[in-house]
Amino acid sequence: MPKPTSYRPTPWDVLELEWCPRYLWLSKRHGVPTTPSMAKGRQEEQALRKKLAAALGAEPKPVYIDAGWTHGVVDMVARRHSAVPVEIKTGVPRREHKWQLYAEAYLVKAQGHSVSLGVIAYGERLARLQITPAELKVAEALLIKAAEVVEGPPPPPRKTPKCAYCQYRPICSGATNRLP
Ligand code: SF4
Repeated sequence: MPKPTSYRPTPWDVLELEWCPRYLWLSKRHGVPTTPSMAKGRQEEQALRKKLAAALGAEPKPVYIDAGWTHGVVDMVARRHSAVPVEIKTGVPRREHKWQLYAEAYLVKAQGHSVSLGVIAYGERLARLQITPAELKVAEALLIKAAEVVEGPPPPPRKTPKCAYCQYRPICSGATNRLP
């Protein structure tokens, strides 16, 4: 088990870390403002969840997993010969999503289940990702890194195309280690 930090990281933190470390750091100090597209996505997710649950043989409800040093919510867990974490997305596919799913698989495995497959549902289109010890090891490293970023000094701003539509753009360049 990794050395505990006072902050307990989540798969959502891994998603933010992979998006932009500074975004993760800012989100823990300023919260994540809900954008119209996020609110719309949450509404769509409810209807989608029922359809996906029926198709995958899962309970149509999120599963909270407390694994001690790390914890978090998995959108759904399907039960087959092994447990299958399911992450529901209503937006466009992004490379960061798979790291979030791997971190969710890490939690499911930490609960004592065997995990060899994870699913990202982009609407009703399913992306199936193999989960091996290698993905679980990377997931653990990313969870540790997320906790270090949250507890550490502000990561430097990155000038990337993502900045153009980032919610934190108005405050990003002036953000310091001071808590609000
Ligand atoms: S504005 Fe750019 S550097 Fe700042 S948090 Fe957003 S994506 Fe990261």
